[in-house]
Amino acid sequence: MQLRDPSLLRQQAYIGGEWRDAASGATLAVTNPADGSALGSVPDMGQAETRQAIAAAERALPAWRAKTGKERGAILRRWHDLIVQNTDDLALLMTLEQGKPLAEARGEIAYALSFVEWFAEEAKRVYGDVLPSTRGDQRLLAFRQPIGVCAAITAWNFPSALVTRKVTPALAAGCTVVLKPAELTPYSALALAALAERAGLPPGVFNIVTGNPVAIGAELTSNPTVRKLTFTGSTATGRLLMQQSAANIKKLSLELGGNAPFIVFDDADLDAAIEGLMLSKFRNAGQTCVCANRVYVHEAVYDDFAARLAQRVAVLRVGNGLEAGVEQGPLIDGRALQKVQRLVGDALEKGAQLHVGGNPHALGGTFFEPSVIGPVTPAMEIAREEIFGPVVALFRFRTEAEVIAMANDTESGLAAYFYSENLARVWRVMEALEYGMVGVNTGMISNEVGPFGGIKESGLGREGSKYGIEEFMELKYACLSGN
Ligand code: ADP
Repeated sequence: MQLRDPSLLRQQAYIGGEWRDAASGATLAVTNPADGSALGSVPDMGQAETRQAIAAAERALPAWRAKTGKERGAILRRWHDLIVQNTDDLALLMTLEQGKPLAEARGEIAYALSFVEWFAEEAKRVYGDVLPSTRGDQRLLAFRQPIGVCAAITAWNFPSALVTRKVTPALAAGCTVVLKPAELTPYSALALAALAERAGLPPGVFNIVTGNPVAIGAELTSNPTVRKLTFTGSTATGRLLMQQSAANIKKLSLELGGNAPFIVFDDADLDAAIEGLMLSKFRNAGQTCVCANRVYVHEAVYDDFAARLAQRVAVLRVGNGLEAGVEQGPLIDGRALQKVQRLVGDALEKGAQLHVGGNPHALGGTFFEPSVIGPVTPAMEIAREEIFGPVVALFRFRTEAEVIAMANDTESGLAAYFYSENLARVWRVMEALEYGMVGVNTGMISNEVGPFGGIKESGLGREGSKYGIEEFMELKYACLSGN
């Protein structure tokens, strides 16, 4: 399959409005996880180029910040329209580098677009307050200003949506950005930058460096010009970046790992719960931080639920995401496959049953069979770790109090889901779950309007929503005295 616009495949980084190679000439290979084939390369950049990108962002800041929200919003709107026009190419690039089925890739582009549209509009809606004064001769103001140069580091599981979810609120607020996309999936981000350039985004406002994560991350966190870091990735890397950012007290937004409980009460609509679980668990072959990770099913409906779920999972079509009708692509790499194998192996060894799947897929490579195992117990590794693969781990529970305690017994706190038709229980459980986001009778909660983010070790800050732009602004207080 060919791109309609081949110029959207950019194999260079984007710094200060120029498409550039690494100073050393070194490159990193980019491969297709479905078959291991080479797609191309990107520059293997490090500290020096990152410093240049930060300097470019700093130079671009005064003019960008000085524009009105309406002017910045108009450019974001043009970017939005160009992304719409190029959806097919962007989805194809995503499937090639990330593996998710083409229909899902198109869905991600629509989701990515929702943030561009939203923040193009929100750019005009940054309000301040006139506060009641404590003295007759003073007036008190609180107003918001852009935080400055921002760094963004994104993960490979949503190569486009994580970029727009971070970059568009920053740009709308009047900040400039240096982005480091995941080295496994840089082409989606670079294509978005190519379209931003066409939309008239001034040079230096949005920069992308590709290459060595450690070297680039060290510069992004230690350089005092960068006032804010927004990151999506593993909790381990988030913790490291937080430590590195401590030296100059950078502001942080961190979207880290989850360990989402998905609770099916005995008063749930089981058909709806199974559909919701399929959506929550099998999106991107289970490789999202909000995927259901621990599925708690009440003992009265456990056997029925497990049997029906297994039937549904058994017919999922696995294959190369470019093939029509494929619902499950490959895992991102060999390391991901090994992790899933290890977690399933440990659970089976400790007594869980296999309802369906359980093995690497006959297609080979990094494909894994969509699987259902259970009952799982807290002693199994799968109960503690983020699976990040197409495996449902079923737990059995008896009481509401017991399941809430089990659901909250984790250091993570990103998303949680539950199904119940009992209104009083819905309120109780919704409030008792210690999570940043709760899906009630739904397995899909992400959109541009809801605040996305976690508590506990799942991170800091919120993305999207009317709150998201505030992450890129400082609140200034002014006291105007009449004397
Ligand atoms: P995952 O295990 O899902 O790949 P990571 O946290 O390793 O999660 O990766 C998320 C993003 O963080 C990627 O863009 C990756 O390149 C980047 N990253 C990994 N290690 C570092 C680091 N030491 N400094 C900065 N960025 C890093």
